[in-house]
Amino acid sequence: MRDFDGLLVQANLIGGAWCDADTGQTVSVTNPATHDVLGTVPNCGAAETERAIDAAAQAFDDWSRSDLSVRVGLLHKLHDALMDQQEPLAQLLTAEQGKPLAEARGEIAIGAAYIRWFAEEVRRAKGEIVPAPTADRRLMVTRHPVGVVAAITPWNFPSSMLARKLGPALAAGCTVVAKPATATPYSGLVWGKLCQDVGFPDGVVNILTGSARDIGGAIMESPRVRKVTFTGSTDVGKVLIRQSADTVKKVSMELGGNAPFIVFDDADLDAAIEGAMIAKYRNMGQTCVCTNRFYVQAGIHDAFVAKLTAATEALVVGDGSADGVQQGPMIDAGGVEKVEEMIADATAKGGTIVTGGKRHALGGTFFEPTVMTGATADMQVARDEIFGPLSAVFKFDTEDEAIAAANATEFGLAAYAYTTSLGRTFRLNERLEYGLIGINSGLITTVEAPFGGLKESGMGKEGGSQGLEDYLSVKYMCVAGLDR
Ligand code: ADP
Repeated sequence: MRDFDGLLVQANLIGGAWCDADTGQTVSVTNPATHDVLGTVPNCGAAETERAIDAAAQAFDDWSRSDLSVRVGLLHKLHDALMDQQEPLAQLLTAEQGKPLAEARGEIAIGAAYIRWFAEEVRRAKGEIVPAPTADRRLMVTRHPVGVVAAITPWNFPSSMLARKLGPALAAGCTVVAKPATATPYSGLVWGKLCQDVGFPDGVVNILTGSARDIGGAIMESPRVRKVTFTGSTDVGKVLIRQSADTVKKVSMELGGNAPFIVFDDADLDAAIEGAMIAKYRNMGQTCVCTNRFYVQAGIHDAFVAKLTAATEALVVGDGSADGVQQGPMIDAGGVEKVEEMIADATAKGGTIVTGGKRHALGGTFFEPTVMTGATADMQVARDEIFGPLSAVFKFDTEDEAIAAANATEFGLAAYAYTTSLGRTFRLNERLEYGLIGINSGLITTVEAPFGGLKESGMGKEGGSQGLEDYLSVKYMCVAGLDR
């Protein structure tokens, strides 16, 4: 028996009951490193989604009016339950998603940290008493849970992306209908088991797997779902924003990125390489904040490329569950083909592969970590999210040139820069059109800070105090006619 077998939940959670799809249909889930079938999950559709929305709507009345101390207490227990089972949860995550075990452990820990953060933060979700224009009135501004929340999450961080949504929703007093990605459903479904284990009431958390279109359609049509929080591709995000119009839902969108990583001549080269490795190759390059474009100033370009190449060649590729592995398989064949297409496009336009550039000898969806120089603005790598282990290096001369190139995209999620100039740091803060800016660090996500993109990378924030606001409606109440 594998350590995680007790956490492998192969059913959906609706109103406190674990159930199959009405049709009995299932979808199988495969380990991307070994191709072993891990199990199946229900292939649910609109009818089951309606029932989950019913359950969440019914549970909302009590949950939204429950004692704050009860909600906070349950969230702390949920945090502890995750950390008590960090190791088997990480193994489950690696088995379905492919990332190295060390990264999976980190994902479970940051997910737990989000739950604890929102348990703390909700105690400070204060209202206001506003000075009234006349003495017989008092003006109050108060915050209330938005209602039933639907949470749709992707495969690249199947545990922590749900934590960022469940944490604030449950803290605020909302109930949830969640739909994890079909490729990695178990790290989502297990949240249902953990919530039950620690005592969340039935119907507060409901989790469905199956047809994205049918489940998504039922969620978006329902007037009872008051908020949709989505992490995934910009294309699907745009569909959901359009679908939200008919019922005027609140939406939070964490969409695609095209992160620039700018290295100036005055940078600490070793620090830049360390940051570059994290910002590029974490999760095999499959994160929305992964570096898409390295812009390196001419004076440091060759030294940077030499060190980046050496570090890239030293990466250990293999099954993420094996000790010492730093790069697992990519999620699926489509992801591999996209990287291959981008490499073909770039080399046809003058790019040079310095290392890697093809499928790995391990086969399947393993891909060689790759460095390419001579990247230019007309290449696909400049425009589209790579979502794979390909470092594309562009050379630049001036700060103005780098900033203009960095901003020349419809995306605006994460940007990184390495410099020792304080003045430049603040110029970058003002001029880079990005929601997340890392100066001298390639890893900046933390529960205390608001994570979220500008432009077509999305709207709304996750984490920070801002991450709770998205789950609260503001009401203004005027108490008039007071005796004097
Ligand atoms: P990714 O690149 O992460 O696969 P997607 O946007 O395709 O990004 O998927 C993210 C999540 O959105 C997944 O849970 C997926 O099943 C879901 N999804 C995809 N299409 C739709 C849709 N039309 N309506 C609702 N959810 C969808």
